[in-house]
Amino acid sequence: MRAAFLNQKGKSLTIGEVDIPEPTQGEILIKVNACGVCRTDLHIVDGDMPAPDSPRIPGHQIVGEVVQSTVPHFESGQRVGVPWLGFTCGSCGYCGSGRENLCDRAKFTGYDLDGGFAEYCVADAHYCFLLDSTLTDLQVAPLLCAGMIGFRAYSMTSSNSQKLGFYGFGSAAHILLQVALYENKNVFAVTRPCDTSTQEFARQMGATWSGGSDEDIPAELDAAIIFAPAGELMPIALRSVRKGGIVVCAGIHMSDIPSFPYEYLWGERAIKSVANLTRADGELFLKVAADIQLQTAVRSYSLEHINDALEDLRLGRIQGSAVIEI
Ligand SMILES: [Zn+2]
Ligand SMILES: [Zn+2]
Repeated sequence: MRAAFLNQKGKSLTIGEVDIPEPTQGEILIKVNACGVCRTDLHIVDGDMPAPDSPRIPGHQIVGEVVQSTVPHFESGQRVGVPWLGFTCGSCGYCGSGRENLCDRAKFTGYDLDGGFAEYCVADAHYCFLLDSTLTDLQVAPLLCAGMIGFRAYSMTSSNSQKLGFYGFGSAAHILLQVALYENKNVFAVTRPCDTSTQEFARQMGATWSGGSDEDIPAELDAAIIFAPAGELMPIALRSVRKGGIVVCAGIHMSDIPSFPYEYLWGERAIKSVANLTRADGELFLKVAADIQLQTAVRSYSLEHINDALEDLRLGRIQGSAVIEI
């Protein structure tokens, strides 16, 4: 099968041929139709995160069809999604307390396990989601990480937060904006300075206001989510949030946060990070997405052009989500 491999961090992915993997007990073999490109893929390729074993096939927003199953609850022909969370131990304190996202022995798709930038993949069936047919493969792929982990971050802003700041307006933010609008909230979208095309995109999607991180938001925020991997946004977001508000960091990696005066945090403001997802997060979000008829803005690339997709993401050229069509 054709697949894209990471052989060495900091280098482009290599595209080549490899044997189709064999599912072991508990796994399913999936013919991949689409796989979303996530900023975490970029962090893995660029070496912002510890390097995985190589060669490794990245990609953790996988949509495909079961072609071989070793478990009774999946059968050939079913449409499934594979998310970032690929394995948990089931016995540590985190797993035992509803926080499998923090499992000490968790394995992640496209990082610890081979992922979906390939024609086929295997996955532990217990971590796969059955998908209905309301959205196309391309449209549903970004829900499997940007949507699910974004939704976990969104859920950490309290339900009575009315004015939300989204710092970074990419794949996750354009999905969560739709959830916020459905709940009659106001979203203030902050982009890189002078990124007028993304600001326009955010307004078209329904943001109350959009502007650069060098501009003042024309409201006091109840909560903010930082989607962009830029630590310098932390003091900016804290200063925009009211007393008692929260700033949630939704990404897996962020550049160093610069020091800032304690008064930015004073007034019972809180900072929280979001790590990974639980299966319950995924099930809940897929239900929400169906209820609100969520739509994703997608730019598709062939597997042969995966490095172009990564470069476009790196340079902020994508509005919405990038997805590899296989
Ligand atoms: Zn991701
Ligand atoms: Zn565990």
